[in-house]
Amino acid sequence: MRGITSPLWPIRYRPLPDELLSSWLVRLAHGHGMKVQTFCNLIFGNQRQIWNRDMDRLAPTWLIDELSQRTATPAQITWNTTLRSYEGLLYRKFKVSGGLQWILALKLYHRKREGYGLQCCPTCLAEDRIPYFRKRWRIAFYTVCTKHQTMMLDRCPQCAAAIAFHRIDIMNVDALDAGRLAYCHECGFDLRAAPAVEPLFYDRDATVLLLNACDVLDPGHVGDNKWDLGRYSVLHQLSMILTSKYRHVSLRDFVLDQIGCSDIRLATGRISLEMRSIKERHHLLQLAMWLMLSPGTRLELAWRSGAVRYNVLLKDFSEPPDWYRSIVRRFSNWRDRLDSYH
Ligand SMILES: [Zn+2]
Ligand SMILES: [Zn+2]
Repeated sequence: MRGITSPLWPIRYRPLPDELLSSWLVRLAHGHGMKVQTFCNLIFGNQRQIWNRDMDRLAPTWLIDELSQRTATPAQITWNTTLRSYEGLLYRKFKVSGGLQWILALKLYHRKREGYGLQCCPTCLAEDRIPYFRKRWRIAFYTVCTKHQTMMLDRCPQCAAAIAFHRIDIMNVDALDAGRLAYCHECGFDLRAAPAVEPLFYDRDATVLLLNACDVLDPGHVGDNKWDLGRYSVLHQLSMILTSKYRHVSLRDFVLDQIGCSDIRLATGRISLEMRSIKERHHLLQLAMWLMLSPGTRLELAWRSGAVRYNVLLKDFSEPPDWYRSIVRRFSNWRDRLDSYH
């Protein structure tokens, strides 16, 4: 196509509000009337493969630069489409490989996705003039759409395939259909037609707090909010502890008992939160949020009941915030716990 190698591309869409880098790139390719792979090979060369990696997470500089220059988009705006922009808020320090706190794992195998690492809100997609994927949909605690207060989807409701909009080219969808990102690449189901599902909630206040934690990620979010790296990290730590049993004691059983609801089956093994299904995450997050509502009192109650131990609360937790450290410090002497019974 003429013009594609010129300094400025003929089509110069800007990212939509909170749009994910990969979503923007796919729209640009389609805007030029090309398949994603063809477009990328032409622009970046065959050597620079981006779709077999998590490009939204890795966000190589050359890709950021290229997109910024060719679309005349300020580099900061391009940078903001990447998951690296969450550094210092959702995780402490970016790293190339391994788990990254709160960033859902795609578990890529060649160009295929084996993990359910991208979620969507069918109603948001249906309301979009041009359906696109948001950056916050890659976040593990974002289980409910804050706008519609309905459950996010982490897979196609018809065939259960992971959402992978960049593979839609394989399907024979009309190239001019601006809504093509909304189709399942595997079976062609229109995700916009998925029913809106009310979120299951156990405790009203815990649900409000979960929505509050999600709100922070919404573009244009304003107002006082207490969520920072420290608080998100404690939430993560508690969610992880909730999946484990230590010497036959379980914090999860304790919280379930306190709230008065029953457990669900969780995938076993060493599975991080970022690899779990939305159903499991939503369950665990509600229990963790119940603790987060009043961590001092509720963790102490759990500790006095023997449901959690001092060393477990700090296990693998690098740089916990001071407020958490001082709560946990109170549980360092097991004799105090016994004393309370006399
Ligand atoms: Zn929505
Ligand atoms: Zn499908």
